[in-house]
Amino acid sequence: MTLSLVSALERELCQRLPAALQSLLNPAPIQPLHCDLFQQHQIQVDVLRCDLLHPVISGNKWYKLKYNLVRAWQNQQSVLASFGGAWSNHLHALAFCAREAGLGSLGFVRGDELNADANPMLQDAASWGMELQFLSRSDYRQRKVSVDANILLIPEGGDNPDGVLGASTLVPAAANHDVVVLPSGTGCTALGVRLALPATTVLWVVPALKAPALEAQWRQRLQQWQKEPCGEVRWLGNAHFGGYGKKSAELLSFVQNFGENTGLLLDPVYSGKAMWALCQQICQQTLPPASRVLFIHTGGLQGARGFQSRQNS
Ligand SMILES: *Cc1c(COP(=O)(O)O)cnc(C)c1O
Repeated sequence: MTLSLVSALERELCQRLPAALQSLLNPAPIQPLHCDLFQQHQIQVDVLRCDLLHPVISGNKWYKLKYNLVRAWQNQQSVLASFGGAWSNHLHALAFCAREAGLGSLGFVRGDELNADANPMLQDAASWGMELQFLSRSDYRQRKVSVDANILLIPEGGDNPDGVLGASTLVPAAANHDVVVLPSGTGCTALGVRLALPATTVLWVVPALKAPALEAQWRQRLQQWQKEPCGEVRWLGNAHFGGYGKKSAELLSFVQNFGENTGLLLDPVYSGKAMWALCQQICQQTLPPASRVLFIHTGGLQGARGFQSRQNS
């Protein structure tokens, strides 16, 4: 796979995307972000507002899905299937996307104690026609499912080569920042972004998971993709706040205060952690004055609505 495949995939997407999803072909807006801390240290921060792309489909999830959609058309498959937890932004986006594109959808959900009424994310997915199958944690771990040839099976989080290619188009053509910051889960979005950025831009990746082995795996994947050496990547592994989806009073109050001070709403699972890491780096004066930073707001506010009351799982 190489990024050179992108233009053909994008052309087919533009031709076949139904009118209801056409707005997703527009680039996400870039907005300056004002905050006393940034000003004090003379750091210019812009935000790439992937959260504003679409009222339902969460930020980066669209980018990871779009060429999978093309692949399903090419294969003449009529159902998109994938995996996710009970609060998965990915399954939520996939269910909506499939319905709008006139395809069926199938979601394999982690946790056989759950049902389609368990939370608003699953309720939405079911209402958009997603068939939900609830797997025990061990079946889920082993991805114990069988699907027929009519179904395009997409990995958890949309993390496949088409996902990487799609994520590479998330980077705005006009980006000339010194540093780009984004949160990561599977690392798929970060891979695509690194491959598309100019080598002079440093990428800061902020994992939402507590998984020390992830960095080495991710760097290995990057090696397999890159033709020439990419620019630098800094892995900021200390902003996971206990792990994926864990509730932390400090993080929740940071997200709330940041929203009140700047008007930018963040979700506490992904983008809140990335912004916390950026602020920490700025406090520690890692960046020279006059640095230009692009923060990628990956969305996730759909899943955040139930976060205050949810159980850790
Ligand atoms: C899924 C998600 C991510 C993680 O993306 P990966 O490609 O899995 O690294 C980041 N932010 C938000 C809001 C997400 O929903």
